[in-house]
Amino acid sequence: MRWQGGRRGGNIDDRRGVGGGAMAGGGIGVMILAAIGYFVFDIDPQLTTQVASQFGGTGTSEGRRGSPTDQAGAFVDVIGANIDDVWKSRIQGYRPPTVTLYEKGTSTGCGFGQAAMGPFYCPADRNVYLDLSFWAQLETELGASSADFARAYVIAHEYGHHIQTLTGVSQQVRSAQQRASGQAEANRYSVALELQADCYAGVWASNAASVSNGEVALEAGDLEAGMQTASAIGDDTLQRRQGGQVQPESFTHGTSAQRVEWLRRGYESGDPAACNTFQAM
Ligand SMILES: [Zn+2]
Repeated sequence: MRWQGGRRGGNIDDRRGVGGGAMAGGGIGVMILAAIGYFVFDIDPQLTTQVASQFGGTGTSEGRRGSPTDQAGAFVDVIGANIDDVWKSRIQGYRPPTVTLYEKGTSTGCGFGQAAMGPFYCPADRNVYLDLSFWAQLETELGASSADFARAYVIAHEYGHHIQTLTGVSQQVRSAQQRASGQAEANRYSVALELQADCYAGVWASNAASVSNGEVALEAGDLEAGMQTASAIGDDTLQRRQGGQVQPESFTHGTSAQRVEWLRRGYESGDPAACNTFQAM
């Protein structure tokens, strides 16, 4: 993927090295790690709150605002700015989320964020939370691709939840879930929401080059790398990897095949209107 010459957004809250990670250590970390298959990619805010009260996630840890100078931080800065540029041209009054980089744990508007839960979006503070060490885990433990685009897809998926918050879809899903007849039905709404975020990531990828004069662009093999990651984090694959039975009614993010399919649909159409996953549920 090409990105080095892309626009810097400067919208990063860099809390790396700021502390706040101590609470995530030891046995707690191990316990949370066991749950990774389930929580990979954005957690339920309710759960974070529970974690917060359990482990005492208090106090804010505001970091350095602006553009990080290290390679990994710069990557997130450029990709985030490019995703913003794509959505700015699509959504009137679009306001970018802040991207918070942290290590191990940090306080968030949704409670205490734990790195082991994976990247997540918090609608309460409209913030994307990323622990960059998560990439290694995703790649070595879950078989995700280490290509830059595969990582960018993960970031774009979280931005997808920001879009859903701006359009009101997230709120509609929450109310539908409260009216749902049971957990299985509530989970189906969750799957549709998650697949739409995957599709939005594809929409971003499709438009990345055109909004950046080619400074941010996919290269040969990138789409396949993104699909490898989408496949690695499908619910059926994660459940199998954990040695459990595959239980479709417990899916919250969709199967590997569905995640790959919606990423592809978003990419091939380049149009968020093609992302009506609710119609398909
Ligand atoms: Zn998600």
